[in-house]
Amino acid sequence: MSDGVTRTDLEHWLQVFAKQVEDNKELLTELDAAIGDADHGVNMDRGLKAVLVALEQVPQATPAALFNKVGLTLVSTVGGASGPLYGTFFLRFGGAVGDEEPVPATQFAAALRAGLDGVVARGKAEPGDKTMYDALAPAIDALDAGLAAGEVWADALTRAVDAASAGREATIEMLARKGRASYLGERSIGHQDPGATSAALLVASANEALHDCA
Ligand code: ADP
Ligand code: MG
Repeated sequence: MSDGVTRTDLEHWLQVFAKQVEDNKELLTELDAAIGDADHGVNMDRGLKAVLVALEQVPQATPAALFNKVGLTLVSTVGGASGPLYGTFFLRFGGAVGDEEPVPATQFAAALRAGLDGVVARGKAEPGDKTMYDALAPAIDALDAGLAAGEVWADALTRAVDAASAGREATIEMLARKGRASYLGERSIGHQDPGATSAALLVASANEALHDCA
């Protein structure tokens, strides 16, 4: 137990996310092959590998500066829809996470919320549009609800992982209304959304890296 998330913890989260994306690169690409253009795994893997290199260039960065770097790196290295969207997520996350560490649990959760709001501002996704939003939003709602109910951080994070997984699975039956998959209309139904799948990995990696942090 400690009293918040340190910069080292935050870097660890990004390292675990990069590893999980690498391990799931083929899956993400297969999912995108079904309803998109088969590049989501490659896109995300390239972007996160660039993030790991970029992190080495800012060893003394505050949490805010760290995520500013992450966001800019993703925007500049990941093509397609997901680069600007994940880039915006991390830029807004950084704007809200602040310069002080350790970051208290409630502030970490608020930074996730700010990141999600950025994704919505950028991509205009609504619930049920079959996007990354459909995994991220339920996860952040669950985290907030758990913390508001006085749950310990580890339990609230576990709930968030479950909610992200459920949200990811729920995209299978959704009709895509945003991004490339929307071009397929009804034919997008029956396929799991690649972005919701990578977003669930982002939440799972937070749980893995930060479970004992706050
Ligand atoms: P592209 O579709 O440009 O090839 P990717 O394949 O990397 O980009 O990412 C596709 C994912 O991006 C989708 O599965 C979806 O989750 C997400 N996405 C696409 N458009 C939006 C949007 N407007 N808002 C939120 N997420 C979106
Ligand atoms: Mg794609």
